[in-house]
Amino acid sequence: MLRAGDVSSAEERAVAAYLGLAIGDALGATVEFLTPNEIRHQYGRHEDIRGGGWLKLKAGQVTDDTTMSLAVGRSILDRGRVEAGAVARALDDWMRSKPVDIGNTVRRNLIAFRRTGNPEAPASEHDAGNGAAMRVLPVALAYFRRPEEDIAAAVRAQGHVTHHNDQSDAASLTVVLLVQDLMGGITDVEMLRERIQALVYVHPAFDPRGKRRENPSGYVVETMQAVFQAFFDTNSFEECLIDVVNRGGDADTTGAIAGMLAGARYGLSAIPSRWLKALEPRVCEACKTQARALVASDYAQGLSSPRGNSTYKNDSSG
Ligand code: MG
Ligand code: MG
Repeated sequence: MLRAGDVSSAEERAVAAYLGLAIGDALGATVEFLTPNEIRHQYGRHEDIRGGGWLKLKAGQVTDDTTMSLAVGRSILDRGRVEAGAVARALDDWMRSKPVDIGNTVRRNLIAFRRTGNPEAPASEHDAGNGAAMRVLPVALAYFRRPEEDIAAAVRAQGHVTHHNDQSDAASLTVVLLVQDLMGGITDVEMLRERIQALVYVHPAFDPRGKRRENPSGYVVETMQAVFQAFFDTNSFEECLIDVVNRGGDADTTGAIAGMLAGARYGLSAIPSRWLKALEPRVCEACKTQARALVASDYAQGLSSPRGNSTYKNDSSG
């Protein structure tokens, strides 16, 4: 049973995680697809939200990582749970809104959804991009303190709309469980590392030990290695994000995922005010409002239906 104090601190960490996602996205987008050397050459150390990048963003503008998360979150709030059909429709609406960027796997499988109405993409060992993991935060918030099998089913339903792949599922679930650990007040680094060990036990490719992962691609394994290294090798929100985005590669997405984790770990007060101020105000408000609503939806459900309800219905109808 949640106590009032737990709820407010979990809520604060949830808000910080959502802002961290948007800040990491906005910060990293400037250097997306650059190598660490190119970043050094152009910026020295990239540490300010300044826009630009290959997308020619305005300072504080976010990309698909954040806007897809908000779309997933809206569908969860709308349906009271993760429902594959509702997530697919929300992402399809998002695609129609002409987003600044969109991943190839996302586009291909949303176009297939339009054609077939089936919200579950076909299983593919090639669809191991980071596109499902980068938008999974709303699932973590809405399914906080729910049975792990419900959480895992919700993670799969959300992810499979575009990425039906074991490595994508495993990475997404690990991100969700880590965010939830942190929301629950777990700060012990060894306990957090156990989540990574559990992942590596089943999927050894994710092992973050060894060489520093620079220039991580959109392959979810490389993305998560960079995120885990930055998350465990730094001691503040700011350091973690600066570390991860200066690795270059898919920097908006490593920034977004590291931002979720570091936000949940260090809380709101650790987010540098220059970054908060730089973030597009509309996005900042949307993240805060949605984070609170998602945590509240979980709390309400937790009281009314403690266990045993099916939280995932593979609904491909209307
Ligand atoms: Mg992006
Ligand atoms: Mg990206």
